[in-house]
Amino acid sequence: MLYMNNGITYVRKDTKILFDPHKSVSEGIVCISHAHSDHAVPHKTKMLMTRQTLQISGIDGEVIEYNKKVQIGDDFITSYNAGHVLGSSQFMLDSGIVYTGDIRVEDSILFPGADILHADILIIESTFGLNHFEFPKHEEVCHEIAAWAKKNMDAGRIILMGGYSFGKAQELTKILSEVCDVVLVHPKIAAINKIYEKNGVKLGKYLSFDSDEAKEIMRDNFVAIVPTHMLNRKFVDAIEAQFSYPVVTGIATGWAKMYSFRNRGVDRAFQLSDHADFNQLIEYVEQSNPREVYTVHGYAKEFARQLRRRGFKAKPLSESTQRKLTDW
Ligand SMILES: [Zn+2]
Repeated sequence: MLYMNNGITYVRKDTKILFDPHKSVSEGIVCISHAHSDHAVPHKTKMLMTRQTLQISGIDGEVIEYNKKVQIGDDFITSYNAGHVLGSSQFMLDSGIVYTGDIRVEDSILFPGADILHADILIIESTFGLNHFEFPKHEEVCHEIAAWAKKNMDAGRIILMGGYSFGKAQELTKILSEVCDVVLVHPKIAAINKIYEKNGVKLGKYLSFDSDEAKEIMRDNFVAIVPTHMLNRKFVDAIEAQFSYPVVTGIATGWAKMYSFRNRGVDRAFQLSDHADFNQLIEYVEQSNPREVYTVHGYAKEFARQLRRRGFKAKPLSESTQRKLTDW
């Protein structure tokens, strides 16, 4: 039995597995796909996650290594690369269920893309499951950000780039550290950057804002990365008042395909996404070739409809349609 109610629950005989429950649970076995806060919360029961997810989330669970089978009750589970953020994992049960968690199919500047897994029952994320979401190639967006930053550095401006602290900010560190001598990052981002580096992911030269060396660099115009929520008119005005250089701002998100973010005082919005776009989601399902597909998050209804048009047996799973049950 498979249903969605506080994450995705799978029950088979005496085995209960919960994928990414967002409220604390005290029974069953929890599989955490990655350390973004809407997926990783602590539970009072056995929790499985990759070593990197454990390091970033700080949750005290058990490590499941990539590509190694672990027994859970009557079933076996394997974790596979999801290409989304450091440590992100898809889970595959020997009984034929695949839960993708958040995935990026394309290779990124930091990681190879998600492994495409053959499933009998596929539970796939559909954050950008609307056919409007066709992103440019990842490499092209990285070049676009680098060229924009370089042009503005050469013109004597301060560059403030906003991105999600975990995932996007590390990609931005890599991109922007190739444009300037040292990129400055928010302390929260610096802490996550360190975990990336500890795991062998090279990000280039960066410094936390609060270091003495960073203060030296800020005597001149500089490049800085801040968490997305900090990037607003008030913050930009404060930076401009504190330093004697004009400021330009950019944001990196898949939602840039839909929104300009100009109302927040953002000059450029770049379509840098750590999720698969619509065509990549379709490509995943076609290659996985499941008997049944369940879509979760974002445009779940729309994506399921598109899959049905292509001949798949597909349904959205959502909290609002709780307990859509399937038995087989
Ligand atoms: Zn995520």
